[in-house]
Amino acid sequence: MTLLTDSKRPAAASAQGAQTPAPPAGYGPYSAEGMAAYSPTGPLKRQTIQRRALGPKDVAIKLRYCGVCHSDIHTIHGDWGPIQYPQIVGHELAGEVVALGASAGKFKVGSRVGVGCMVDSCRHCAECAAGFEQFCENGNTQTYASKDRDGSITQGGYSTFVVVDEDFVIAVPASIDLAEAGPMMCAGITVYSPLRRWNVGPGKTIAVSGLGGLGHMAVMIATAMGADVTVITTSPGKAPDARRFGAKNVIVSDASTDWKKHTRSFDFILDTVPYRYNIDPIIPMLKRDATLCRVGVGKLVDPNVFGQMALVGARNAIAGSIIGGIRETQEMIDFCALHKIKPEIAKIPMSGIYDAWSKVVAKQARYRFVVDVNA
Ligand code: NAP
Ligand code: ZN
Ligand code: ZN
Repeated sequence: MTLLTDSKRPAAASAQGAQTPAPPAGYGPYSAEGMAAYSPTGPLKRQTIQRRALGPKDVAIKLRYCGVCHSDIHTIHGDWGPIQYPQIVGHELAGEVVALGASAGKFKVGSRVGVGCMVDSCRHCAECAAGFEQFCENGNTQTYASKDRDGSITQGGYSTFVVVDEDFVIAVPASIDLAEAGPMMCAGITVYSPLRRWNVGPGKTIAVSGLGGLGHMAVMIATAMGADVTVITTSPGKAPDARRFGAKNVIVSDASTDWKKHTRSFDFILDTVPYRYNIDPIIPMLKRDATLCRVGVGKLVDPNVFGQMALVGARNAIAGSIIGGIRETQEMIDFCALHKIKPEIAKIPMSGIYDAWSKVVAKQARYRFVVDVNA
């Protein structure tokens, strides 16, 4: 392990926030302060946790920011099944490396890095070997609410410090601020991966349903890929923003929408809506053989239903997609740097997370809240 002496420790490592317990020098374990949920509802409260001592391939990261994903809210609300409390969520982490395990060589002390939804996987199944850790046949370890290698439950990025295997850490390009890097770790890769999988590019006409954290990244990324993008939104006020992000057209979804006007219009539809809604009018807007891919994942007890009649008319498919592999996540952030794509963010302190959650659920995020974990 690379021991960080005080003289080698970068300023970022010693500049602890007033309320952050300083991690002990060396290999850890390190204390971290987070904001934990203690029940499905009710405000988050500060909690001090221990991050493990550095294993050979671990890196210790002093976190600066963590994006607020709708998945954090689903998880704590129990939308996807019961969880154990207290639980710290957050899987859009960004910070600086402050210490390295003995054989960790991917980063240096001071490297600007991010961590997304996964912190480990089996590494030997066919999916892992192919770079699809998100589909690990033996189940990957997620950044929060997941059983870690030592049997403990992982605690996420609404916290000041984290220890992660370097294989699951992403390098942040110099042109991207750490606050903007956070949302790329989940929102960015979750939309980039299906856009690539369904060959979105020049000459393709696509739609993005839901203009939130994922949706606004999807519009910018698909536009940069060369596609002609339409936004389907329930919020008419977001139309100018949709166009600013690159959309050519906006369909406002309400009782008076003339869906038929758009029949057989799209080569691909990316659906980011977080709850059950009626997709039957949307399916016929797909061209023959085209796919609607859902990345929004609603409540387990209230799944989306759709009419088969809508689907058979033009041999359409409904698919799903979950985040992306580590290699592809690096590819995504490098693509964003190249095309100068950045999420539109609003910074909040740790004490503001619970209030931000209400705004996210009310479709009021513009377009990603990012927690300054030291404020
Ligand atoms: P978000 O910021 O809240 O955006 C969702 C957008 O969906 C809203 O802004 C809203 O856009 C639209 N919407 C339509 N009906 C809605 C309703 N009844 N309630 C709330 N929003 C509604 O959420 P996000 O962080 O982008 O996440 C979107 C979904 O993707 C969530 O279910 C999340 O868990 C899931 N997710 C999945 C993955 C994956 O790997 N598959 C990864 C990350 C997140 P308009 O105002 O434009 O209608
Ligand atoms: Zn997420
Ligand atoms: Zn695996």
